[in-house]
Amino acid sequence: MAEEVDLFVIGAGSGGVRAARISSGYGARVMVAEEYRVGGTCVIRGCVPKKLLVYASRFADEFEDAAGFGWTVPEPKFDWATLIANKDKEIARLEAAYTANLDRAKVKIVKSRATLLDAHTVKLAATGETIRAKHILIATGGAPSMGKDIEGHEHVISSNEAFHLKELPKRILIQGGGYIAVEFAGIFNGLGSEVTLVYRGDNILRGFDDDVRNHLRMELEKRGIKVITKKIVEGVEKVDHGLCVGLSDHENIVVDKVMFATGRRPNVHGLGLEAAGVKLGPTGAIAVNEYSQTNVPHIYAVGDVTDRVALTPVAIREGHAFADTVFGKKPVLVDHTNVPTAVFSEPEVGVIGLTEAQACEKLAKVDIYKTSFRPMKATLSGRDTRVFMKLVVDGITDRVVGAHIVGPDAGEIIQLIGIAVRMKATKADFDATMAVHPTASEELVTMREKSATHVRQAAE
Ligand SMILES: Cc1cc2nc3c(=O)[nH]c(=O)nc-3n(C[C@H](O)[C@H](O)[C@H](O)COP(=O)(O)OP(=O)(O)OC[C@H]3O[C@@H](n4cnc5c(N)ncnc54)[C@H](O)[C@@H]3O)c2cc1C
Repeated sequence: MAEEVDLFVIGAGSGGVRAARISSGYGARVMVAEEYRVGGTCVIRGCVPKKLLVYASRFADEFEDAAGFGWTVPEPKFDWATLIANKDKEIARLEAAYTANLDRAKVKIVKSRATLLDAHTVKLAATGETIRAKHILIATGGAPSMGKDIEGHEHVISSNEAFHLKELPKRILIQGGGYIAVEFAGIFNGLGSEVTLVYRGDNILRGFDDDVRNHLRMELEKRGIKVITKKIVEGVEKVDHGLCVGLSDHENIVVDKVMFATGRRPNVHGLGLEAAGVKLGPTGAIAVNEYSQTNVPHIYAVGDVTDRVALTPVAIREGHAFADTVFGKKPVLVDHTNVPTAVFSEPEVGVIGLTEAQACEKLAKVDIYKTSFRPMKATLSGRDTRVFMKLVVDGITDRVVGAHIVGPDAGEIIQLIGIAVRMKATKADFDATMAVHPTASEELVTMREKSATHVRQAAE
């Protein structure tokens, strides 16, 4: 007889691990299957290793900037192999910690790919065993989408391989304009590579506020990153001294590595969803209702595989809400609006809420406050960089409905602005808050002059 569990979780990533632990805490018998490494994308080949590489890349500026403050720094040398080895050690420590937490929570971990045989039966590829489950949670995440196969596609890497390169490429071309593309552009640029960013659209960071997109692009270019827009990579050919990349305007660029960061697709392929009767939505992600429930009532899905807001804290929150709802018997909804988020580019981006364009579409009157200034540290270091900040305000209610920052620590700042925005703080509340001086973020409470007001014309 097949083993029986109350909950079978497919995927031990951000959403799956949280859901498994909390469900077990409610007394459910829980099994989780992981085909690669416990911790999932964020821990193993996403947020965490990425941020470690971002830290590494930022030392370059620190060494340079120190001179203006009186320091003499001997010529710094960087060793990629040391960075990758230390990063791998930390990731292994985290993987062990995640495994230990699941063990402590009495969740049974199986290191295997799992697929659905029917709506209640899961098959483990490693052993051929089948498990009967009362409830199933699909938390299989996503994977890099490399687009259609171009000539020479075998020479192209994704973010997965970027974390394990044998050596730092002297020249790298990154195709993509999303957050992963600009983050890796910053990492390689900071570590000393010559970076070319190629993006098919008009400007990087589609979906972000236009001022943020323009400001970041300008800053990337100031740092020596070559940004090419409205073009795509059509082919990659191995040549004697590297890889020759052919762009859509017939320009050829020779580099040592080519990386595509052209989006991610939900991991649904070969999962047995048809056998279980689980339906996909229009984008190919698993379709769920506001409780993360699929069309099959005892099968749920959370995280990137549902393609709602593909971020770790969101997957974790969805996993927790699932456990509370199904095993804690207290229905919990996840609010997917006003999610603060950061892009760990150089400089960093932090945003929450509506862009100026979105606010103009939604609201009758919109007030814009924005500023751009030289950060204090740059006065002595001489670095050519500016900070950008913008508040989008509902002109009728005075509520701050959007905040957009490009500059040092933007991710840290936006976490706290996120609380104010969620609490429906008004511009008057921001103004009444005493500034912390001297900081960059004091600008957020001292912007007095509107830079624009948009009033929607009444329909004729
Ligand atoms: C380079 C990069 C940087 C990122 N940076 C950030 C960031 O800074 N901040 C942020 O919030 N988010 C970031 N993300 C996104 C974040 O990693 C994801 O949103 C998050 O990991 C989603 O969690 P999840 O539980 O949905 O899936 P995942 O964490 O992807 O976990 C899914 C797991 O399921 C496993 N699996 C898949 N299919 C099967 C199967 N059939 N059987 C068994 N196991 C299976 C996979 O191996 C994986 O371990 C980043 C992502 C990438 C790629």
